Amino acid sequence: MNGLAKPIILGIEGTAWNLSAAIVDTFDVIAEVTSTYVPPTGGIHPREASQHHADHMKSVISTVLANAMDKEVAPGDIKAIAFSQGPGLGPCLRTAATAARALSLSLDIPLIGVNHCVAHIEVGRWKTPSQDPVVLYVSGANSQVLAYRAGRYRVFGETLDIGIGNALDKFARGAGLQHPGGPKIEVLAKNASSYVPLPYVVKGMDFSFTGLSTAASAALKTSPIEDVCFSFQETAFAMLVEVTERAVAHTGKHEILLAGGVGANMRLREMLRIMCNERGISFYVPEQRFMGDNGSMIAYLGLLMFEQQTLLPLNESHVRPNYRPDDVVVTWRGD
Ligand code: AMP
Ligand code: MG
Repeated sequence: MNGLAKPIILGIEGTAWNLSAAIVDTFDVIAEVTSTYVPPTGGIHPREASQHHADHMKSVISTVLANAMDKEVAPGDIKAIAFSQGPGLGPCLRTAATAARALSLSLDIPLIGVNHCVAHIEVGRWKTPSQDPVVLYVSGANSQVLAYRAGRYRVFGETLDIGIGNALDKFARGAGLQHPGGPKIEVLAKNASSYVPLPYVVKGMDFSFTGLSTAASAALKTSPIEDVCFSFQETAFAMLVEVTERAVAHTGKHEILLAGGVGANMRLREMLRIMCNERGISFYVPEQRFMGDNGSMIAYLGLLMFEQQTLLPLNESHVRPNYRPDDVVVTWRGD
């Protein structure tokens, strides 16, 4: 097999609660295995999540390699090891990076350090017809509006404090709902009967969610939980849609791509779809398995970087918990 023409890459994702390894080629996912850390109570504890990743690393990697073997892809066919270098929780990142370095050394193939946010974007461009979107990336820890311009994914707007997913989860925990709270809030919101006013915080192109989460918790004392869940969603999603729309107006792009675990929410999708219809632009949502954190997106961006020989020397492979997407020089897009 010609390694440069048809590279096969193994990617490891481990920024937060999902440990996921995947093997991909240019066309598709060959194998993917995921093990999710579910906190017994409360939210994600970084050290416990990293312990989960360490405990499951051997089985996740050996299973993904075995599943690839079933498709006649041997470890010797893999051309590089990609891993999530950041952003994410330090202990989790270090566990994934350690495994990636070990694999790179033992298979004697290069290491590729992938920016997790950029991987969310590229998997969306891979798995939908989207080519040059404004991206709304909404996950547990991250909330950003991004678009490509002059060799980088620029951040047009972002959260000033916590990610929308963490804001939803934090409120849900206070209301006695188990982690992750986002999906439970979506279900409860369907049975609401009225809107409770909550703080709508957009500053320039940025947004903030802690005040909203606190106010929603306080509103539980006087309003039914269904109404508060509904109002939380309406308020937070309207903030996200407003900033996304302004990024579209500013950049003149014709597509919106939704990324990240919170993108599973049907009300958020509906609001974005309405805005896209009104502006006459396209709206793309990847299949659910590519929305949350997954190894395939890391392997696929690793593949794009491998084709440009954007490799990571071992001595520069330290993790980057605050790695910003706009720090990445995009070498793989010709436009
Ligand atoms: P990620 O960090 O990309 O893995 O996404 C995890 C986050 O997505 C958590 O904060 C979840 O609460 C949130 N989430 C998952 N499904 C939904 C949903 N249907 N509505 C809102 N948030 C969701
Ligand atoms: Mg993510």
